[in-house]
Amino acid sequence: MTQDYDVVIVGAGPAGLTAALALGGADRRTLLLDGGPPRNARATAAHNVFTRDGCAPTDLKTLGLRDLRPFGIQVMHAPAREARPLRDGFAIRHDGGWARVRRLLFASGVRDRLPHIPGLRERWGVTVHHCPYCDGWSNRDARLGVLGSHQEGHHLALNVRAWAEDVCLLTDGPDELTDEQRGDLQRIGIPVNTQPITRISGKDGVTVHFRNGKRLELDGLFLNPTQVQNSGLPAALSCELDARSRVTVNHNGMTSVRGIWAAGDMTGAPQYVTNAAASGMTAAVSLNTTLIHEDVRAQGAAFHKSPDEDPAVGVT
Ligand SMILES: Cc1cc2nc3c(=O)[nH]c(=O)nc-3n(C[C@H](O)[C@H](O)[C@H](O)COP(=O)(O)OP(=O)(O)OC[C@H]3O[C@@H](n4cnc5c(N)ncnc54)[C@H](O)[C@@H]3O)c2cc1C
Repeated sequence: MTQDYDVVIVGAGPAGLTAALALGGADRRTLLLDGGPPRNARATAAHNVFTRDGCAPTDLKTLGLRDLRPFGIQVMHAPAREARPLRDGFAIRHDGGWARVRRLLFASGVRDRLPHIPGLRERWGVTVHHCPYCDGWSNRDARLGVLGSHQEGHHLALNVRAWAEDVCLLTDGPDELTDEQRGDLQRIGIPVNTQPITRISGKDGVTVHFRNGKRLELDGLFLNPTQVQNSGLPAALSCELDARSRVTVNHNGMTSVRGIWAAGDMTGAPQYVTNAAASGMTAAVSLNTTLIHEDVRAQGAAFHKSPDEDPAVGVT
């Protein structure tokens, strides 16, 4: 079965839900494909979220979906599986068939790749964190470890130290720090432990087990994981990716492929709930503006601007 839409949004996280809200309010025939939980689903609370600070990520999503009810948005709890370019848009396959669509908005997020240390994954989002702005306040003045062996470990340790005095850097083997970075750490009292780690345990805190048989008791651990795209579809549609495999977009969320926008963590945008939501809004306004231009042109009206141009955000 094939259905026609103006827009298909791939992903119902903060970016996709905000875009859906804007496009629903603009009366666009929109399909929102919800492929699963948001990136922060394992966390008990999302912080720095305007008017909703401390709200559980799953509750944020429920509220976001509820906000869509007054509009004619079709929400399908199924992933986008395949996409193909058409002459005047795209075809996208989901579990219910194919959708033919004029514009595509990817908001499918990223997956964190954690180091292969037994016990780490189970504690991700609970006592193992990545961002002091998200989880620094609830860990202020706690005993904290930072896992990382080179520049990113140094950077994160310096940041985490702004929330707690008792911070150590764990490099899980030989470190790759420069003398300057070692000097920074020493200056603010961050010891560097290079012992290889065998596993992590602990219920309310984090017990780090080292290969030499020693243990370290911490209240929390921070690390900076690498990331991969949740969806391979933007790349399959030839959207340009940067050196870190993030989808390249301009200031309006347009990708390098005409008719495709991207928003949220999957782009180079700062990775926070409110930034993802803001970029979803920006992309929605931008792509809707191109649809308005296209519709006017289709009616034969004289219009000075081509729909292929990048329209300015804020068309009021
Ligand atoms: C443990 C943790 C805690 C965090 N805490 C905070 C915090 O306190 N405050 C804060 O501001 N930020 C926090 N973040 C960052 C925040 O989660 C992200 O910045 C935010 O979720 C990004 O929103 P997004 O919409 O871009 O992507 P996501 O929230 O990841 O949403 C993308 C959605 O797309 C879906 N999807 C993927 N592939 C497909 C497909 N093929 N078809 C359909 N759907 C698909 C995914 O299942 C997901 O639901 C945290 C992150 C982590 C990992």
